[in-house]
Order: sequence, then structure tokens, then C-alpha cells
Amino acid sequence: MEFRDLKQQYNTLRAEIDMAVNKVFSNTDFISGKEVSELEQQLADYVGVKHCISCANGTDALLLALMVWGIKPGDAVFVPDFTFFASAEVIAATGATPVFVDVIEETFNISPESLTDAIENVLREGKWKPRAIIAVDLFGLPADYEKIRMIAQTYHLLLLEDAAQGFGGMIGGKKACSFGDIGTTSFFPAKPLGCYGDGGAVFTDSDEWAACIRSLCVHGKGKDKYDNIRIGMNSRLDTVQAAILKVKLKAFREYELERVNAAAKQYEELLGKTGCRVPAVPNDFCSGWAQYTVVLQSEELRDRMQIRLKEKEIPSLVYYKKGMHEQEVFREVRQYTGLVQTENLCKTVLSLPMHPYLKREEQERISEVFRKELC
Ligand SMILES: *Cc1c(COP(=O)(O)O)cnc(C)c1O
Repeated sequence: MEFRDLKQQYNTLRAEIDMAVNKVFSNTDFISGKEVSELEQQLADYVGVKHCISCANGTDALLLALMVWGIKPGDAVFVPDFTFFASAEVIAATGATPVFVDVIEETFNISPESLTDAIENVLREGKWKPRAIIAVDLFGLPADYEKIRMIAQTYHLLLLEDAAQGFGGMIGGKKACSFGDIGTTSFFPAKPLGCYGDGGAVFTDSDEWAACIRSLCVHGKGKDKYDNIRIGMNSRLDTVQAAILKVKLKAFREYELERVNAAAKQYEELLGKTGCRVPAVPNDFCSGWAQYTVVLQSEELRDRMQIRLKEKEIPSLVYYKKGMHEQEVFREVRQYTGLVQTENLCKTVLSLPMHPYLKREEQERISEVFRKELC
């Protein structure tokens, strides 16, 4: 059994993908070929924002957003403690101070109460200037943007949506990557919409920021690559990757997103009865299911469950073992709010196989292991 079955996906889409990449090979327009701008247009239309700027990976996408906002030393940027390292890494990379915020136990996403608490404490201390919030759509579920947006407005903060795992998620009819002042995603192979290497994208309605990000991606170009008006980087999506993503976006829209949601429903039915906690999807929310993450009653039970699954050759992973405040490199970063939920989740979460090609029999085999151990 595969944790995320990219082989089966390739077998299904092989004819189209092979044709698409072969076309790029014969055209040899490997950088900034027409597939790149075509994909950007399709992604912007799908997400429902004015501009999509593709780049080299999801981490660069986050960094580009912070760069265009001029985030710098002395600024504070708020980020959930329970996330992939890149969400916090980019803040430190600009020289600004990451402020870790606790998450909601049920949704794994940034807690509005903890966020307000952290902002108030940073303001009271007066050492850093609050500038931005990075909200993460963890495991595919959009964060609570109604509340987060209100907090951002109250404190005049910019809002960045890290939808690296969130592509395909929705609140009402509105799509992930459109909830922040800027939204970003990743096309790392195992993400909901993955390419065959590294890739990422930035989404925004702002013409000014979009133009600046396009410049930052190509060495801070002005009129062209050899006219340089700011310090940027080299961060582009390869034409080959764009060609692959065009095929995969079509499959994603036509059936993959539907299938992961059906698989999630199936899991809920099978695992809901076994006493582990299945992921909560609030009313009106829709997840893209980057991960299917259950919560066990204790660390001991979580670790035992992982061993039992492994005995049956069922892969499972712990996302994440450590909160940001527990990472070695952040050991001296001051805490401005309690981070108890993150600490608890790190001990009790377990992510199970999840992808559009997961079979009902496979899910039954997994739930059988849970039933044996827990019931
Ligand atoms: C994967 C991921 C990133 C980084 O994306 P890359 O393409 O690997 O650079 C950022 N944030 C979150 C939440 C992620 O899961």
C-alpha cells in the first residue's frame, strides 16, 4: 500500500503526460515556455483571483510574499506553531521575528484566540512591530478566515495564506489560495496538486504586488533580465513542470478532488466507530485532504498503532513530531502565548494513506487494524 500513490496516478494519466512533456522537449523552450503562462491563467481562474505567478517551490512563494511586503528585521510575523517548518523559516529568512501561535485542537489550524493573545503581548512588550499573519491550511482544510481576517483588520496586519497543503479546499464557494491578501501553494509531488519535482505559485488580486513578484522571481528585473531594479532571486517553474501540471489540474478538477473527499467520508464511517478522533470539517468548509490525520488518546497508543500498521505493511506518518517552538534553530525565540494544543497534537496525531486512487479494500484493511487495537 502506498501513502500517496503517485505511480497509479501516472499510470492513469501516462498518455497525456508523456505527450505534454515530449512537446516541451521538442520545442526546447524549457524556461518560461507558453505552458507556464497557460497554467498560470488556468490556476488564477480556478482559484478566482486576478494574478497567479508560478515560482520554483512553495517556500519561495511564501518568501516572495514577505519580500514584496518589505517584511524586515524588527517586524513580527505570526504563524501557527503546528505546521511544516517552511511556514516559519521564511519569516526568519527575512530577518523578522516569528511569533508562534497555538492551534485549535479539532481543526489543527491557527487559533484566533491564541492569535489575539500573541498580538496583544507583542504590542504590550513593544519590542517588535506586528506586520503580518501567516495562516496555514493544514492537511488541506482552510483556516478560519472569517475570524482571522477580522483580527488582521483590527490590528492592521497583512494576511498571507499558506495553502501549500490547501489547494482544492473551500469555504462556501470560495477557493483556497484566495483567502489572504496573498495566497501561496506548493506543487511538491506529494501535495494535493503536485508536479514531478519542485514547484510553487503565488496568488493575489493586487496588480502592483503581482508585477513586483514577477520582477523578484527573475533577479529583480526591470525592463528585462539584464536591467535590474531590485534584489530578487531566481525562482521559476520549469516549462516541463507546467506541462505536467496542466494535465494534472484537469484530473484534479474532473475527479481527483471528488475522490479524496469520498475516501475521507469512507474513513469517517470506518474509523469513527473505533474510538480514534477523525478530522473535523466545519460546516461550509471543504478540505483538499493533503493528509488524513487522526488523533489517538495517548502518545503510547499512537506509537503502538503505527507499529501495528507497519506489521501489516500499511504506511503511516507523524505530521508533525515537533512544534516550531521545539525546533532546535528556534530555541531562543521568545513565546508570546501558550502552545499546549500543539504539544498535545505532536504526541497523538497519525496520518494515514490518502490519495485519489485509494481503494475501499485498503481503507477496510486499515480500519481493521484500528478495530483490533482499540475496540
Ligand atoms: C510543503 C509546505 C511548504 C513548502 O513547500 P515546498 O514546495 O516544499 O517548498 C510550505 N508550507 C507548508 C504548510 C507545506 O506543507
